[in-house]
Amino acid sequence: MTPHLMKAFPRTDLEAERGEGCYLFDRQGRRYLDFLGGVAVNAFGHCHPVLVNTLREQAGKLWHASNIIRIPEQERLADRICAASFADGVFFTNSGSEAIDFALKLVRRYFRSQPSSQRWRVISFADAFHGRSMAAIAAGGQPKLTQGFEPVVPGFDKVPFGDMAALAAAIGPETGAILLEPIQGEGGIRQFTAQMLREIRALCDQHGLLLVMDEVQTGFGRTGKLFAHEHAGVMPDILAAAKGIGAGYPIGAVLATAKVAELVTPGSHGSTLGGAPLASAIGNAVMDLLLDGDLLDRGASTGHVTRIGALLRAELQKLVVEFDDLLLDVRGEGLLVGLGCKVENRSLMTALRDRGMLTAPAGNNVIRLLPPLIIDENHVAEAADILAAACRDMRAAAAA
Ligand SMILES: *Cc1c(COP(=O)(O)O)cnc(C)c1O
Repeated sequence: MTPHLMKAFPRTDLEAERGEGCYLFDRQGRRYLDFLGGVAVNAFGHCHPVLVNTLREQAGKLWHASNIIRIPEQERLADRICAASFADGVFFTNSGSEAIDFALKLVRRYFRSQPSSQRWRVISFADAFHGRSMAAIAAGGQPKLTQGFEPVVPGFDKVPFGDMAALAAAIGPETGAILLEPIQGEGGIRQFTAQMLREIRALCDQHGLLLVMDEVQTGFGRTGKLFAHEHAGVMPDILAAAKGIGAGYPIGAVLATAKVAELVTPGSHGSTLGGAPLASAIGNAVMDLLLDGDLLDRGASTGHVTRIGALLRAELQKLVVEFDDLLLDVRGEGLLVGLGCKVENRSLMTALRDRGMLTAPAGNNVIRLLPPLIIDENHVAEAADILAAACRDMRAAAAA
C-alpha cells in the first residue's frame, strides 16, 4: 500500500476493481457478494443501468454550475424530497458530516432568532456516530472520535442509549435540541423503540426543543421506508441524510420544517459543490428507483425491502441457533441488519471475506449486513450459505 495515503482507515488488502449488481470483483478477478454495500451507500448495487445512463447523459450536459444561479435538477429533487417527507425545505451537501454540521448550525440559528432564548446546547447519545467534522465528533458518543483532537466543540451533553430518565434529567434551561439516529449504525444497529421516539418527541414539545434526526445511514429506503422515523410515526424538525441519496455519488441533504427552513437567508450558509447538476440528476434517478415500483412500504402494504429484510433476518436467526457458540443475535429493520457476535466480529468478517462475502463492522461486536436494496431470495440464500460455511471454518480453526 502506498505510503502517500494517510492511514485513516483500517483497510484490508482487497483491491476493488469493478462491480456488477450485488457483486464486487477484486483485481485478481475474485467475486464477492457485496453486503458491505459501500457502508449503506450502494443502495442499487454496482453500475445499475438507470444510474449509469443518468450519469452518462448528465456528464455530457452539465456537471457543475454554481449555487448563485438556478439549478433546475436541484429544485426538482428538493420538491420531490419534500413531497415525500415531513420537510418543507432542503439544503444539499456533499457528505453526511457536512449535513450534520449544518443541522447543528440550524439548531443555534433557530434559538438565536428568539432573542430571549438561552437555548443552544444539544443532547446526544452514547455510542452515537454523527460523522467526522469538528461538531460531528463532539456530538458523537465515542471518546475515540475526539481523542487527540481536543479541545472539543462545546455544547454537547451525552446520555446513555435508551435511558429515558437520564434524558429527561439532562434537559436544562440551555438545552436546545435532542440529536439521535433512529437506529444507531456504527454503534451496532441499536434501535430506539417507537415508544421511546414518541416519548422523546413529547419531551421536545414540552420543553420547546428541536428534534434532530441523523438518518445518514437509515434514510433513503434502507429500513423499508423512505426514512426510519416513519416506522414510529414520529417526525423530526431537522434531518440529516446522505449515504443512500446518491447511491454511490456524493450528495447529502439537510431537511427541515418551515419554522427552521425559513430562517436560512441568502449568505447565511452555503456549499460550493452541494447539489450540483450532476449530483442532483443522480439524486433524482435514485428517487425514481425508490418511489416507483414496489421497493418501499406504502401505507399498510409492505415493500420489497421490508419483505426481503425479514427473510434475511429469519435466515440469520436460524444460524444464530445453529452456531450459538459463535453468534449472539440478529437486529435491525429492513436491510439495515446487525449480527451480534460472541467471537470477535472482525475475525468472522475475515472468514466471510475468505468465503467471498463482504460485510461491515460495527460497535458492540456486531457485523453489519448492508446489501443493495434490490437483492432477491437467491442473494439471501447465498449469504446464509456463506455465513454457515464461515462459521464452520471458525469452529474448525478453533478445534485445530
Ligand atoms: C456515515 C455517517 C455519518 C457521516 O457521513 P460521512 O458522509 O462519512 O461524512 C453521519 N452519521 C451517520 C449515522 C452515519 O452513518
